[in-house]
Amino acid sequence: MKVRTFRLGGVHPEENKLSNDAVTKPAPLPKQAVLLMTQHIGAPAKPVVKEGDKVKVGTLIAEAGGFVSAPVHSSVSGTVIKVGEAVDAVGANRPAVYIKVEGDEWEPTIDRSDKLETLEAHPELTPEEIVNRIKNAGIVGMGGACFPTFIKLCPPPTATAECIIINGVECEPYITSDYRLMLEKADELIEGVKILMKGAKVNQGYIGIEENKPAAIKLIAEKIAEKNITNIEVVPLAKKYPQGGEKQLVDAVIRRQVPAPPAIPVNVGAIVQNAATAYAVYEAVMKNKPLFERYTTVTGKQIKTPSNYLVRMGTSFQELIDLCGGMPAGDNKVLAGGPMMGRAVNTLDVTVGKGQNCITVLTDADAKRKEIDPCIRCAKCVGACPMGLEPYLLATCSSKKMWDKVEAEMITSCIECGSCQFTCPSHRPLLDNIRVGKSTVMGIIRSRNAAPAPAPAKSGSAPAPAGKGTAKPMSTADKPFVPTSIPTVKPANKPVNLPAGCKPADMKSLKSI
Ligand code: SF4
Ligand code: SF4
Repeated sequence: MKVRTFRLGGVHPEENKLSNDAVTKPAPLPKQAVLLMTQHIGAPAKPVVKEGDKVKVGTLIAEAGGFVSAPVHSSVSGTVIKVGEAVDAVGANRPAVYIKVEGDEWEPTIDRSDKLETLEAHPELTPEEIVNRIKNAGIVGMGGACFPTFIKLCPPPTATAECIIINGVECEPYITSDYRLMLEKADELIEGVKILMKGAKVNQGYIGIEENKPAAIKLIAEKIAEKNITNIEVVPLAKKYPQGGEKQLVDAVIRRQVPAPPAIPVNVGAIVQNAATAYAVYEAVMKNKPLFERYTTVTGKQIKTPSNYLVRMGTSFQELIDLCGGMPAGDNKVLAGGPMMGRAVNTLDVTVGKGQNCITVLTDADAKRKEIDPCIRCAKCVGACPMGLEPYLLATCSSKKMWDKVEAEMITSCIECGSCQFTCPSHRPLLDNIRVGKSTVMGIIRSRNAAPAPAPAKSGSAPAPAGKGTAKPMSTADKPFVPTSIPTVKPANKPVNLPAGCKPADMKSLKSI
């Protein structure tokens, strides 16, 4: 099989996949589950339980708080002891439900058998029914983005989905939860891909896996061949970070460039879903199982037994680290996620949520920042950026609060992959500054778009000047990101006309690209 990759930038950090061979074990039940209402992008879920209520595993405890939101189900059985707040991975207090664990009684509607259910055996599952079950089960993107999955399956009228791309890349160092899932649940994963394809009404699926996971590539390709599935292809990808970024994956697999925000992969015909999400979709649709547990890696060079666990949501980081031998001696830094994109937590009371694929414990030596030197204008950060940005410029202008400038320089296109900071020989805190700039600019754009539109100009009067307070569209549309080394793309917020010859019926032709 030909190995593909994305075309712009990228780095290759040391892999450190310490838990690659650790077979996934179910983590013991927590003493209490603390379930955040913000385990997804969008509006917080609204609790529908109160103190004293009894719940079972799988009971709905919070309904979606808006269109872009997701319901939350109990991961344990027991008694609700508090509806209040808890700290999340970024250190903010968020609404949460506390449940004291009593036994392990599941909702009887959940099918707990290991029997593999196939899509062919369930003709009653229409695309609409599939989307509905995914929505009600609270499935969100489990690679970390946590975007509600049902929304991705229903693209806007201006876009046409042509294929599902499953992200089995796991390019970030240390993390192995998706790799273990692909090895241990390959049949269910493949059914999940078929369900996603039917739900999105597409006839082509791809599973992108980095070539440093040959066992997963071989196993899934063999299973697909055994089942005589002709419209799902395993795509081996080169070892390069951030290969698992949505836009990089689309470029690598189907050779199409996703334009700058607000464009998304479906604007070029692709819906990207994580491997863990595909498995959760299988369980939701075929087993009536809401999303309340997930595969999570607990790892670090000083961790006694780096491991992979099937974890109930709401289990604390402390309990999981204790299972692996406890915190190493000395100063340590604990990350929610991997070392490239993870966030350092300030308490081990933080609990596992739907997007928590890894807990990484870095030693003081690994985590210590090197002394910052002046920029030597080597442009290594520019060469490493997979989005074709100028990180040194974005970071410097962000630190000087030049918000207009960084917006014009497309800071909203940054995927926060950290490749620039990783590669900088002067150890400049590029990502830190860019994150501040990006979140500030996103806030400015949101408030600008929310501002009332100016009154229509009277006949003969000059048009109102664009500027603060006007409902001006994102400036990304004014100046689309057009990298020079790859094919030209359409402006950002317009529907993209797909290249001739890339209609759904012709998707097979993509296999030869
Ligand atoms: S963090 Fe942003 S600016 Fe830096 S390399 Fe990644 S996409 Fe480019
Ligand atoms: S990599 Fe670092 S030193 Fe080189 S241009 Fe970028 S910011 Fe400057």
